[in-house]
Amino acid sequence: MELYAESLTEYKRLATLEVKVGDLLLGNFNPIRIQTMTTTDTMNTKATVEQSIRCIEAGAELVRITAPSKNEAENLLNIKNELRKRGYATPLVADIHFTPNAAEIAARIVEKVRVNPGNYVDKKKFELIEYSDADYHEEIERIRNRFTPLVKICKEYGTAMRIGTNHGSLSDRIMSRYGDTPIGMVESAMEFLRIAESENYYNIVLSMKSSNPQVMVEAYRLLIENMHSELRHCYPLHLGVTEAGDGEDGRIKSAIGIGTLLEDGIGDTIRVSLTEDPEFEIPVCKDIVKRYVDKKGTAVPPIEKSSLTFLSSNVKRPSFEIENIGGKHVPVVIADFSKKNNITPQDLEDIGYKYNVITDKWTIGDMAADYVFCADKNVDFTLPGTLRIINNYNTWKDAADKEKSIPIFDEKQYLNNEIIKSQSINFVMLDCYSELYPQPDKKSLFEKLKHDTTAVICLSSTNKNAMQSIRRMFIELEENDIKNPAIIICYSNDDTMDESLIHYAIETGALLLEGFGNGICLGYHYDDKNRLPDNKLLNSIAFGILQATRTRISKTEYISCPSCGRTLFDLQETTAKIRAVTNHLKGVKIAIMGCIVNGPGEMADADFGYVGSGTGKITLYRGKEIIKRSVPEEIAVEELINLLKESEAWVEPALVHA
Ligand code: SF4
Repeated sequence: MELYAESLTEYKRLATLEVKVGDLLLGNFNPIRIQTMTTTDTMNTKATVEQSIRCIEAGAELVRITAPSKNEAENLLNIKNELRKRGYATPLVADIHFTPNAAEIAARIVEKVRVNPGNYVDKKKFELIEYSDADYHEEIERIRNRFTPLVKICKEYGTAMRIGTNHGSLSDRIMSRYGDTPIGMVESAMEFLRIAESENYYNIVLSMKSSNPQVMVEAYRLLIENMHSELRHCYPLHLGVTEAGDGEDGRIKSAIGIGTLLEDGIGDTIRVSLTEDPEFEIPVCKDIVKRYVDKKGTAVPPIEKSSLTFLSSNVKRPSFEIENIGGKHVPVVIADFSKKNNITPQDLEDIGYKYNVITDKWTIGDMAADYVFCADKNVDFTLPGTLRIINNYNTWKDAADKEKSIPIFDEKQYLNNEIIKSQSINFVMLDCYSELYPQPDKKSLFEKLKHDTTAVICLSSTNKNAMQSIRRMFIELEENDIKNPAIIICYSNDDTMDESLIHYAIETGALLLEGFGNGICLGYHYDDKNRLPDNKLLNSIAFGILQATRTRISKTEYISCPSCGRTLFDLQETTAKIRAVTNHLKGVKIAIMGCIVNGPGEMADADFGYVGSGTGKITLYRGKEIIKRSVPEEIAVEELINLLKESEAWVEPALVHA
């Protein structure tokens, strides 16, 4: 093992125990299973069966259904019977919060139950209580008494279990001792796991979800380390980012969290939680999982033990500053215009700039790219003041005005001492272990880079293990004390834009989460003349990745639950409504949660919460504090805006877009 993974430089699945969910095998190198959760009322058998079928037809290998009380748990039998009657044998999972009675009924009916250790026994009061060791022990015994009957039923009926910890719903006991931390999440699951093992029950899957991919990734890694050191074996892992939201942002956030772990061979089943109909989650899961079927890449040298601290420290790689890159600057975005035939002012609209003919001025948006790579093309109009262009060295050297652009060198050009360079900033391409690509003379290259305060390194790799290759190079830079800022270049040759989005999010997101990268540049490998890059989309994805990794905040963040049988309003419609009036509030985190039972806990670190608290009623939160209760749904969005205004988090849209 290298830290928490079998390998940090090649794709190797983490060895986990095998769990049987009905006839489906999970863990122990079985294929990564895809699952989702219904959003219908569990008491509505017909609607739940039909939605389950849509999910199964789309490719779900497990379907989860909420069971908030005994009635819903009992109705799982009708749902299961109807599905079996219609020829669908897909295992069902009961989702339990707060209700051990419902769990004990469901465990006799469906193939798997999911319990949340944060609220299975504890009623969350958001209280900070001081627990002595004796009090703490007493609480654990209380859990043992309440949880053991479920374990015994699961054992008797051959039912699997997921101990599913959520960052936002840790018990008051865990919060008081460990705080709202990844280690608290791990301990929360370990308490239940120890009880299950003491009953010789091992048919268990674990999850550590959070709406923040950074927290989620850290919690899973810690859990693996804990299981290895304490239990000497590892249970299969269910991966997911909670409340990821919808659309492009929801997909990016999920891909970063789930993909960062899968890249290291971690994860046996995944769920992408989107605020959309559950069947739409499945293609995203498929695009993610597909990347790991027969994944093999050119060997990358293993990481020395002494270098592992770079990865475990969870801090940003130190770099010096060159203009607006590196040091304390947020990561920059480089737009790739190299495949364009000619570059016009309209093209800049795709990357966040708007030209006003009357005032003859450029307006710069929050998501405006910082550099444009133009390869060998010239730009013959005046650029916005904040935008710089990058040209290949051979074009740059022949240009009359060398100040107009920045040169980019390949490794050979850069090592040639005869060539001229820019006095202030130069980009240097560095290939990271690409297949069929001669590796550079790293000794000379590193020596030169180390003493060059103008060189920004651009790291790219065509290796199938591109993320690991670039990560390995970042570590080599550290080992050689090279502190030049470095940009991650990520190109895709995937068949569809949906797959490309997953590709970009995983390969750059995983590195950004580990503190690597002072900028990103997204593009395409293929040379299909009919498929020109959609620069607007690429720019939006790039800023979405930086937002999801919380390395550069450029827009409002929405934390919206996927909805389930507990949901008290139309979540998709409400999310769209709230987004329409608040999407100009850069950096504000707004949670939109379907129910008051789990919503307040699950909305984690949101600044404001819009939570369903009864039919047609909404409760509004500032952080974890209730500000307005039972607001009629018809005026709730307006009241949310009032709350934002009272909290000085509101800006008039006209001022932002002026
Ligand atoms: S927060 Fe949303 S997904 Fe979670 S239980 Fe409530 S309604 Fe269901």
